[in-house]
Amino acid sequence: MILYSVKDGQYYNIDGFKQDLSDMTEKGFAPKVYVNITNRCTCACTFCLRNTKEMNEHNNLWIEKEPEAEEIIAEFEKYDWSGLEEIVFCGFGEPSMRIDTVLEVAKYLKKKHPQVPTRMNTNGSGNRYQGRDITKELKGLIDTISISLNASDKKKYYEVTKSRYGEEAYDDMLEFAVKCQEYVPNVVLSVVDCIGEEEIAACRKVCEERGLKLRVRQFES
Ligand code: SF4
Repeated sequence: MILYSVKDGQYYNIDGFKQDLSDMTEKGFAPKVYVNITNRCTCACTFCLRNTKEMNEHNNLWIEKEPEAEEIIAEFEKYDWSGLEEIVFCGFGEPSMRIDTVLEVAKYLKKKHPQVPTRMNTNGSGNRYQGRDITKELKGLIDTISISLNASDKKKYYEVTKSRYGEEAYDDMLEFAVKCQEYVPNVVLSVVDCIGEEEIAACRKVCEERGLKLRVRQFES
Protein backbone atom coordinates (compact mmCIF):
# COMPACT_ATOMS: atom_id res chain seq x y z
CA MET A 1 0.00 0.00 0.00
CA ILE A 2 1.15 3.50 -0.84
CA LEU A 3 -0.96 5.61 1.55
CA TYR A 4 -1.76 4.21 4.96
CA SER A 5 -2.86 5.06 8.45
CA VAL A 6 -1.81 3.58 11.78
CA LYS A 7 -3.70 2.34 14.82
CA ASP A 8 -2.35 0.23 17.71
CA GLY A 9 0.80 -0.55 15.76
CA GLN A 10 -1.13 -1.87 12.75
CA TYR A 11 -1.11 -0.31 9.30
CA TYR A 12 -4.29 0.22 7.32
CA ASN A 13 -4.64 1.15 3.68
CA ILE A 14 -6.60 4.39 3.51
CA ASP A 15 -8.82 2.92 0.82
CA GLY A 16 -10.83 1.52 3.74
CA PHE A 17 -12.00 5.03 4.69
CA LYS A 18 -14.59 7.33 3.18
CA GLN A 19 -13.50 9.60 0.34
CA ASP A 20 -13.47 12.62 2.67
CA LEU A 21 -11.59 10.61 5.35
CA SER A 22 -14.13 11.87 7.89
CA ASP A 23 -14.45 8.42 9.46
CA MET A 24 -10.78 8.20 10.42
CA THR A 25 -11.30 9.81 13.80
CA GLU A 26 -14.66 8.05 14.29
CA LYS A 27 -12.79 4.76 13.95
CA GLY A 28 -10.13 5.83 16.44
CA PHE A 29 -7.37 6.75 13.98
CA ALA A 30 -5.31 9.92 14.26
CA PRO A 31 -6.12 12.08 11.22
CA LYS A 32 -2.75 11.45 9.63
CA VAL A 33 -1.76 9.76 6.41
CA TYR A 34 1.60 8.06 5.88
CA VAL A 35 3.34 7.72 2.53
CA ASN A 36 5.16 4.44 1.96
CA ILE A 37 7.83 5.43 -0.50
CA THR A 38 10.60 2.82 -0.29
CA ASN A 39 11.68 -0.33 1.51
CA ARG A 40 15.36 0.41 1.02
CA CYS A 41 17.49 1.80 3.82
CA THR A 42 21.09 2.80 4.50
CA CYS A 43 20.84 1.17 7.94
CA ALA A 44 20.06 -2.32 9.13
CA CYS A 45 18.87 -1.56 12.64
CA THR A 46 18.72 -4.47 15.02
CA PHE A 47 15.26 -3.32 16.18
CA CYS A 48 13.88 -2.48 12.72
CA LEU A 49 10.21 -3.35 12.41
CA ARG A 50 10.96 -4.70 8.95
CA ASN A 51 12.71 -7.61 10.67
CA THR A 52 10.87 -7.85 13.96
CA LYS A 53 7.23 -7.19 13.17
CA GLU A 54 4.95 -10.08 12.54
CA MET A 55 3.36 -9.59 9.14
CA ASN A 56 -0.34 -9.81 8.50
CA GLU A 57 -2.78 -8.01 6.24
CA HIS A 58 -2.67 -4.92 8.49
CA ASN A 59 1.03 -4.43 8.93
CA ASN A 60 2.62 -5.35 5.69
CA LEU A 61 4.35 -2.32 4.23
CA TRP A 62 6.53 -4.26 1.81
CA ILE A 63 6.16 -2.86 -1.69
CA GLU A 64 7.11 -4.73 -4.84
CA LYS A 65 7.75 -1.58 -6.82
CA GLU A 66 8.61 1.86 -5.49
CA PRO A 67 5.80 4.27 -6.44
CA GLU A 68 6.60 7.18 -8.74
CA ALA A 69 5.53 10.69 -7.70
CA GLU A 70 2.66 10.58 -10.20
CA GLU A 71 1.31 7.37 -8.66
CA ILE A 72 1.45 8.82 -5.15
CA ILE A 73 -0.25 12.02 -6.29
CA ALA A 74 -2.92 9.95 -8.08
CA GLU A 75 -3.61 8.20 -4.76
CA PHE A 76 -4.00 11.54 -2.95
CA GLU A 77 -6.31 12.75 -5.71
CA LYS A 78 -8.81 10.02 -4.75
CA TYR A 79 -9.50 11.68 -1.39
CA ASP A 80 -10.42 14.97 0.19
CA TRP A 81 -7.55 15.20 2.66
CA SER A 82 -7.94 18.90 3.48
CA GLY A 83 -8.81 18.08 7.10
CA LEU A 84 -5.77 15.96 7.88
CA GLU A 85 -3.52 16.91 10.78
CA GLU A 86 -0.36 15.69 9.10
CA ILE A 87 1.06 13.83 6.11
CA VAL A 88 4.15 11.79 6.91
CA PHE A 89 6.79 10.34 4.58
CA CYS A 90 7.72 7.19 6.40
CA GLY A 91 7.21 3.46 5.78
CA PHE A 92 9.52 0.44 5.93
CA GLY A 93 12.57 2.27 4.59
CA GLU A 94 14.51 5.52 4.41
CA PRO A 95 12.54 8.22 2.49
CA SER A 96 15.56 10.45 1.85
CA MET A 97 16.92 7.76 -0.49
CA ARG A 98 14.09 8.98 -2.77
CA ILE A 99 14.26 12.63 -1.85
CA ASP A 100 13.43 13.86 -5.36
CA THR A 101 10.15 11.94 -5.28
CA VAL A 102 9.41 13.05 -1.70
CA LEU A 103 9.88 16.68 -2.68
CA GLU A 104 7.86 16.40 -5.87
CA VAL A 105 4.94 15.00 -3.88
CA ALA A 106 5.44 17.58 -1.09
CA LYS A 107 5.32 20.33 -3.70
CA TYR A 108 1.94 19.02 -4.88
CA LEU A 109 0.69 18.71 -1.27
CA LYS A 110 1.71 22.27 -0.42
CA LYS A 111 0.10 23.63 -3.56
CA LYS A 112 -3.19 21.81 -3.03
CA HIS A 113 -3.71 22.21 0.74
CA PRO A 114 -0.88 24.36 2.15
CA GLN A 115 -2.41 24.24 5.64
CA VAL A 116 -1.78 20.49 6.02
CA PRO A 117 1.61 19.99 7.72
CA THR A 118 4.15 17.59 6.23
CA ARG A 119 6.75 15.50 8.02
CA MET A 120 9.59 13.23 6.99
CA ASN A 121 10.87 10.52 9.33
CA THR A 122 14.50 9.79 8.58
CA ASN A 123 17.70 8.24 9.84
CA GLY A 124 19.54 11.42 8.83
CA SER A 125 21.73 9.87 6.14
CA GLY A 126 20.18 11.90 3.30
CA ASN A 127 23.11 14.21 2.62
CA ARG A 128 25.61 11.37 2.67
CA TYR A 129 23.49 9.11 0.47
CA GLN A 130 22.61 11.79 -2.08
CA GLY A 131 26.12 13.26 -2.12
CA ARG A 132 24.73 16.78 -1.77
CA ASP A 133 23.18 18.99 0.87
CA ILE A 134 19.47 18.19 0.60
CA THR A 135 18.46 20.21 3.67
CA LYS A 136 17.98 23.44 1.75
CA GLU A 137 15.66 21.63 -0.67
CA LEU A 138 13.28 20.90 2.21
CA LYS A 139 12.50 24.57 2.72
CA GLY A 140 8.79 25.38 2.43
CA LEU A 141 7.94 21.74 1.66
CA ILE A 142 8.65 19.80 4.84
CA ASP A 143 7.39 21.25 8.13
CA THR A 144 8.78 18.67 10.53
CA ILE A 145 11.75 16.41 10.26
CA SER A 146 12.01 13.61 12.76
CA ILE A 147 15.48 12.08 12.93
CA SER A 148 16.36 8.87 14.79
CA LEU A 149 19.19 9.68 17.18
CA ASN A 150 19.22 6.17 18.63
CA ALA A 151 22.29 6.58 20.85
CA SER A 152 24.56 9.02 22.65
CA ASP A 153 27.77 8.17 20.79
CA LYS A 154 28.95 6.80 17.47
CA LYS A 155 30.01 3.39 18.77
CA LYS A 156 26.64 2.64 20.37
CA TYR A 157 24.92 4.12 17.31
CA TYR A 158 26.68 1.77 14.95
CA GLU A 159 25.99 -1.22 17.20
CA VAL A 160 22.24 -0.68 16.82
CA THR A 161 21.96 0.77 13.32
CA LYS A 162 24.67 -1.13 11.42
CA SER A 163 24.74 1.81 9.05
CA ARG A 164 26.42 1.16 5.72
CA TYR A 165 28.55 4.23 6.47
CA GLY A 166 29.94 2.78 9.70
CA GLU A 167 30.44 4.85 12.85
CA GLU A 168 30.83 8.02 10.76
CA ALA A 169 27.08 7.88 10.14
CA TYR A 170 26.53 9.27 13.62
CA ASP A 171 28.32 12.55 12.92
CA ASP A 172 26.65 12.72 9.47
CA MET A 173 23.25 12.39 11.13
CA LEU A 174 23.94 15.11 13.70
CA GLU A 175 25.33 17.44 11.06
CA PHE A 176 22.23 16.81 8.96
CA ALA A 177 20.00 17.65 11.95
CA VAL A 178 21.83 20.90 12.65
CA LYS A 179 21.64 21.93 8.98
CA CYS A 180 17.92 21.11 8.84
CA GLN A 181 17.29 23.74 11.51
CA GLU A 182 17.98 26.43 8.94
CA TYR A 183 15.28 25.24 6.55
CA VAL A 184 12.72 23.16 8.48
CA PRO A 185 10.54 24.81 11.16
CA ASN A 186 10.41 21.78 13.45
CA VAL A 187 13.46 19.52 13.80
CA VAL A 188 13.13 16.70 16.32
CA LEU A 189 15.57 13.97 17.25
CA SER A 190 14.11 10.85 18.76
CA VAL A 191 15.10 7.95 20.96
CA VAL A 192 13.02 5.09 22.30
CA ASP A 193 12.15 4.89 25.99
CA CYS A 194 13.70 1.45 26.54
CA ILE A 195 17.35 2.58 26.28
CA GLY A 196 17.52 3.51 30.00
CA GLU A 197 17.48 6.76 31.95
CA GLU A 198 21.24 7.25 31.82
CA GLU A 199 21.42 6.85 28.06
CA ILE A 200 18.38 9.10 27.57
CA ALA A 201 20.11 11.78 29.68
CA ALA A 202 23.28 11.43 27.58
CA CYS A 203 21.20 11.76 24.38
CA ARG A 204 19.53 14.85 25.80
CA LYS A 205 22.97 16.37 26.37
CA VAL A 206 24.00 15.62 22.78
CA CYS A 207 20.91 17.48 21.58
CA GLU A 208 21.23 20.40 23.99
CA GLU A 209 24.83 20.99 22.94
CA ARG A 210 23.58 21.49 19.39
CA GLY A 211 20.35 23.34 20.14
CA LEU A 212 18.27 20.35 19.03
CA LYS A 213 15.00 19.03 20.46
CA LEU A 214 14.79 15.47 21.78
CA ARG A 215 11.65 13.36 21.83
CA VAL A 216 11.55 10.14 23.84
CA ARG A 217 9.05 7.87 22.18
CA GLN A 218 7.52 4.59 23.17
CA PHE A 219 9.29 1.53 21.83
CA GLU A 220 7.11 -0.38 19.38
CA SER A 221 7.89 -4.06 19.14
S1 SF4 B 1 16.65 3.44 9.82
FE1 SF4 B 1 14.50 2.85 10.11
S2 SF4 B 1 13.95 1.70 8.24
FE2 SF4 B 1 16.18 1.84 8.33
S3 SF4 B 1 16.85 -0.07 9.28
FE3 SF4 B 1 16.69 1.51 10.90
S4 SF4 B 1 14.63 1.31 11.72
FE4 SF4 B 1 14.67 0.20 9.76
